[in-house]
Amino acid sequence: AQLDTLDMVVLVVLLLATVAYFTKGTYWAVQKDPYASSYANGHAAKEAKTRNILEKMDESDKNCVVFYGSQTGTAEDYASRLAKEGSSRFGLKTMTADLEDYDYNNLDSFPADKVAMFVLATYGEGEPTDNAVDFYEFIGGDDVSFSQGAGAEEKPLSNLKFVAFGLGNNTYEHYNSMVRNVNKSLEKLGAVRIGMAGEGDDGAGTMEEDFLAWKEPMWSELAETMDLEEREAVYEPVFEVTERNDLDADSDAVYLGEPNKNHLEGTSKGPYNAHNPYIAPIVESKELFTDKNRNCLHMEIDISGSNLTYTTGDHIAVWPTNPGKEVDRFLKVLGLTSKRHTVIAVKGLDATAKVPFPSPTTYDAAVRYHMEICAPVSRQFVASIAQFAPNESIKAEMTKLGGDKQYFQDKVASMHLNISQLLEMMSGGETWSKIPFSLLIEAIHKIQPRYYSISSSSFVQNKKISITAVVDSVDIPGAPHVVKGVTTNYLLALKQKQYGDPHPDPHGLDYAITGPRNKYDGIHVPVHVRHSNFKLPSDPSKPIIMVGPGTGVAPFRAFVQERAQQAKKGENVGKTLLFFGCRRKEEDFIYEKEWEVYKEAMGDNFELITAFSRDGPNKVYVQHRMKEHAAEIDELLQQGAYIYVCGDAANMAREVNTIVGQIVAEQRGLPEAKGEQIVKAMRSSNQYQEDVW
Ligand code: FAD
Repeated sequence: AQLDTLDMVVLVVLLLATVAYFTKGTYWAVQKDPYASSYANGHAAKEAKTRNILEKMDESDKNCVVFYGSQTGTAEDYASRLAKEGSSRFGLKTMTADLEDYDYNNLDSFPADKVAMFVLATYGEGEPTDNAVDFYEFIGGDDVSFSQGAGAEEKPLSNLKFVAFGLGNNTYEHYNSMVRNVNKSLEKLGAVRIGMAGEGDDGAGTMEEDFLAWKEPMWSELAETMDLEEREAVYEPVFEVTERNDLDADSDAVYLGEPNKNHLEGTSKGPYNAHNPYIAPIVESKELFTDKNRNCLHMEIDISGSNLTYTTGDHIAVWPTNPGKEVDRFLKVLGLTSKRHTVIAVKGLDATAKVPFPSPTTYDAAVRYHMEICAPVSRQFVASIAQFAPNESIKAEMTKLGGDKQYFQDKVASMHLNISQLLEMMSGGETWSKIPFSLLIEAIHKIQPRYYSISSSSFVQNKKISITAVVDSVDIPGAPHVVKGVTTNYLLALKQKQYGDPHPDPHGLDYAITGPRNKYDGIHVPVHVRHSNFKLPSDPSKPIIMVGPGTGVAPFRAFVQERAQQAKKGENVGKTLLFFGCRRKEEDFIYEKEWEVYKEAMGDNFELITAFSRDGPNKVYVQHRMKEHAAEIDELLQQGAYIYVCGDAANMAREVNTIVGQIVAEQRGLPEAKGEQIVKAMRSSNQYQEDVW
């Protein structure tokens, strides 16, 4: 067979990765040799875009680059904020940079009068985000011998001044390991850190405050080191937003929510990925709960018209549309309602500013499809818009909210307000028409696709992806609004449409259900697939233990579906033990009937153990059931069983980890610490896998 271009690219990248792998651990100089730079040149020639960060900074007259390693966009957002603040408060000439857009072989020539900032999220089990993988490997990642090898004698990066902030979650074992390891590697290579290496904790819900507390002393130290003069922060727009009255919203050139040019022109094609979703038909949907007050959706998404593939255990990303109710509120409070369909052209005022959505577009489309307007409003944002308040008293109140952590917590954060809900509440009917639209584009996060653990087996249905999603609805006592999950309520509306409602309107949210130019009509949703390492053992006869309460059972439906099919085909399928928990057998015991069908195929090799927390006098959770089955669990583990945990990261997954350690220790007569160690070793060897959120 002939190789097509994509195959060639993949082969070249693999070859280079192999070369990089084998040359790693020697000297910085090796990293600078022809392989790395010829790749850089090849790439640059192809895209006519430099991968040389020093060149880029020189060309655009910058002295501060803020690199981000971001998976869901949060780190990117913090990077933009640092860049913005550096420029408005200290007159730094800043730019942000996606780590995957540059090469790092010339970091040793980074000028001493410039600074590089790194804003790095840690993903999953202490891994770099996808866009940071190459950088991480290049500087040695967690491989101490590499940076020692290069750094011990040479200190090649002694010119490099850097600043570092990490985004992590303390419920994971490798808390903030990215920023910790990068900091270590850079220091070993001789780079000089300014300020502390900051760590934000999503697990404790303190990311924003951790960031605010970290950056002040960092700025002072940086100002001193680089001899910067602090000035009254002046707002400088990053984007130029021009109303194009010569263009009509119906014009073919105007984006009404289409994610890119191919989609606009109706020639959308693969590869479909995080930059290019596939508009997939939802071929089936149903409600899984019998509880009238809560919803859990099962949906079947058809990928046969795309080149998307998946394997059991992967994730599907769903790209949401904001609810009409919040879009309307946002436009109204900013005084943009009458101009909502006015065409706007958005362009970066600086060569390094990336416009986060395609342009020209309309205010309505930008807000509806591209801006995360329903997210909680941040204190820094409140401080930054105070100057554009409709009057002096509102300005004073906004300044107070922006500056006083406790006051902000009591009045805004605890009420779970989004931006327009806050602005609406503060203004008492006045519009905030003085806020430049550029500031909103800069400050509001780009809308993010949400991930779902695929709940079907690719062995059983490789062209149809199932998802199992609980519809998010959080009612905080005393708060003026119910927080409605953006994606799950949108999916609920799609389901209602599938059941014959032409204008589905769950909770008055009113979605633009047929999408831009009706391109999603017939019940479609934009998706892409993200491959994961959460995988069944390749040998089906190996025993497995799964712990998945609530929608944590999603990937395990796929695992059991797969094994049942294998059993039907006469394969030798090992013990398949599933712990599932929910509130009540009669309300939210999802897939109850299906488990029986799988049981028929697998016989005693499939065992489902349930915990219903609200059916009896005592709350019973999966953890309790695991303790009751301690002997069986340990026996299976000794036979080499794989153990999988999916669902709530904050409590359940951590407790299950502890309990497995206790079970191992008790059953084998070992001290508890030894049990913990064994679990740790199981995690490193992938015998213990997690898919948690
Ligand atoms: P969002 O709009 O993202 O809101 C989510 C929550 O954020 C709200 O409930 C609230 O607590 C908070 N929030 C939102 N707005 C505000 C505000 N204004 N103020 C304060 N707080 C606010 N989910 C499943 O149901 N099934 C799965 O199989 C599944 N698999 C996943 C796999 C992975 C790898 C990951 C990372 C997540 C998975 N999730 C799964 C979770 C899923 O991705 C979504 O997070 C979830 O469905 C909620 O999305 P949403 O857009 O509806 O809610």
